[in-house]
Amino acid sequence: MSHYPYMFAPLDLGFTTLKNRVLMGSMHTGLEERGDWNRVAEYYAIRARGGVALMVTGGMAPNPEGGVFPGAAGLYTAQDIANHRLVTDRVHDAGGKIAMQILHAGRYAYGPDCVAPSPIKSPISPFKPAELDEDGIEKQIADMVTAAVRARDAGYDGVEVMGSEGYFINQFLCAATNHRTDRWGGNYDNRMRLAVEIVRRVRAAVGPDFILIYRISLIDLVPNGQTFDEVTRLAQAIEAAGATILNTGIGWHEARVPTIATSVPRAGWAWVTRKLMGKVGIPLVTSNRINTPDVAEHLLAGGAADMVSMARPFLADPDFVAKAADGRAAQIAPCIACNQACLDHTFQGKVSTCLVNPRACHETELTYDQTTTPRNVAVVGAGPAGLMAALVAAGRGHSVTLFEADGQIGGQLNMARQIPGKEEFHGLVDWFTTSVAQSQIKLRLNTSATPELLDGFDDVVIATGVIPRDPQIDGQDAPHVLRYTDVLRDKAQVGARAVVVGAGGVGFDVAEYLSHDGESATENLALWQREWGVGDPSDAPGGLAPDGPHPQPSARSVTLVQRKAAKPGKGLGKTTGWIHRASLAAKGVRMLGGMEYRRITAEGLVVLRDGVEETLPADTVILCTGQEPLRILADTLIATGKTVHVIGGADVAAELDAKRAIDQGARLAATL
Ligand code: NAP
Ligand code: SF4
Repeated sequence: MSHYPYMFAPLDLGFTTLKNRVLMGSMHTGLEERGDWNRVAEYYAIRARGGVALMVTGGMAPNPEGGVFPGAAGLYTAQDIANHRLVTDRVHDAGGKIAMQILHAGRYAYGPDCVAPSPIKSPISPFKPAELDEDGIEKQIADMVTAAVRARDAGYDGVEVMGSEGYFINQFLCAATNHRTDRWGGNYDNRMRLAVEIVRRVRAAVGPDFILIYRISLIDLVPNGQTFDEVTRLAQAIEAAGATILNTGIGWHEARVPTIATSVPRAGWAWVTRKLMGKVGIPLVTSNRINTPDVAEHLLAGGAADMVSMARPFLADPDFVAKAADGRAAQIAPCIACNQACLDHTFQGKVSTCLVNPRACHETELTYDQTTTPRNVAVVGAGPAGLMAALVAAGRGHSVTLFEADGQIGGQLNMARQIPGKEEFHGLVDWFTTSVAQSQIKLRLNTSATPELLDGFDDVVIATGVIPRDPQIDGQDAPHVLRYTDVLRDKAQVGARAVVVGAGGVGFDVAEYLSHDGESATENLALWQREWGVGDPSDAPGGLAPDGPHPQPSARSVTLVQRKAAKPGKGLGKTTGWIHRASLAAKGVRMLGGMEYRRITAEGLVVLRDGVEETLPADTVILCTGQEPLRILADTLIATGKTVHVIGGADVAAELDAKRAIDQGARLAATL
């Protein structure tokens, strides 16, 4: 009997059967644009072997004007078919099924040739779209139909028509972006005409035995968005037009409500899919912030949907489904919804990968082959860099001893997981704990490695991490001045008025920690919805509560300062920085740049601001002024002529994060 009977129940689509209820949602990886289709094929084939029932590719543009950016991947010409055939053949050989997503970006296309129902610029794009005329609309539909036919010719099992997230089709559906007065605008029947016509004509062109998924925007999360009555009518019309499956889309890209970030409660949007259950006859897929088999099973068993979609969890662990099937759920590398290596990479034009799995999208180049010459390897430091190095080295057949001075593994992850909204870090530490326990690694906790202890090892990997940087501010030795480690690790008391010095990732985390009291909203959906102003789309168009957000008041007065004149938080993650800034602003945290620190007194932090000296009142001042490498052991060993491998913060502390640490640990261990 399966551990997850609902998840592993087959789904009969009439002309074909899906072997379980898990769909791998569409993700842009940037691989297709690099032109190495063998690498693309391997990326999907590995995930097909991992047991997922159906995968959806990253968005493929039907024509150049619909591409997310100039040169975005697409099926523009018949010549592209051979490349895609490489992917579909490899997936089918691996026993999987794959559908190609057709994505027309409309006004989100990042280029001057973008087109839309009306010439209204999006707040997240500098380009004003050209308004399409009747012929222009017909051309867009025809191009999408052609792309679907090419997808079938390329061997795909189906297509997904992207109708959500504020892209082209969604722009027709909402009055805010569709000001047309012809048959494509005005009342809802006219606004939904495009979506229905695309599905109807795609179905007619591809025939009956081809999966046609329509990704429907169930809650737009923008002003003047669709009501749930409208969404329901659309869903029914899409079913009648020939769709096989409806997949859930949540929120437009320009929405000011987080939809997939780590601070969003797990399965925090499944209630919207549930609202549509029973109103259509075709299977419904729910989505967003589902990252464990338990959550997936709970949703399916509770009738929230017929299938679950997970996307980023398949970057973190391609074998998610196989491990769940075998009762090895604790071994699934968890997606912590950080976006640091996937979405943030996409927005920087880099190939996506994953913070917890550096092999993601690098499968052909980063391999963990069994060693033919096992060595005796010492790893010093069980933070993310050391843990990953130890796991990969041990997995390859080396004999690994892992030294950790502390009584637990995890290093800085143990501080990150104290922050409200970062509860997913618990899962990451748990996964490292399970993985180490199930490996052959000899873990030596409460052991500070010395040169003597390290004598006799063939390889020594130093991952001793970082120490807080000393900012040398006059008065910093007073008892009311703390370091972030005192607060997050040692739980030192903080007064009613706090000044946080340094507004990097750690400063923001500490400010978040200090402004919270009681339950984290990430663990309480109703509270979280109230904080962000999420309403029921049956009552509020677009699902924005009419009375707006109601953030919890801050637990204390918090001021966050930096010396740079730039806006604090500018260097945070591209896709998540705005959430951190908005969350603190909502709690009344003051964020000030352009400070010159003079001294710390009993009254607070004395700064020079615009040439004027002032005191920022504080009962407690917390220093979050960056880190320096902790290299004493490495330098001692090097001085005695020993060759060591230095990784993570001990190597370079600047801009260190878990992504770089884990990647460096994995890549080193792959070469030992
Ligand atoms: P950081 O990002 O380098 O920030 C250090 C802060 O201290 C900056 O605000 C800097 O701004 C200030 N500072 C630097 N030297 C100073 C000095 N000598 N005196 C006074 N102020 C000084 O370091 P961090 O905040 O410790 O973060 C470390 C790494 O962890 C970063 O790479 C960060 O991205 C990562 N992290 C990420 C997250 C996340 O959510 N993704 C969370 C936590 C940490 P000024 O120089 O302008 O004063
Ligand atoms: Fe998940 Fe972060 Fe990996 Fe992206 S980088 S897949 S959000 S863990």
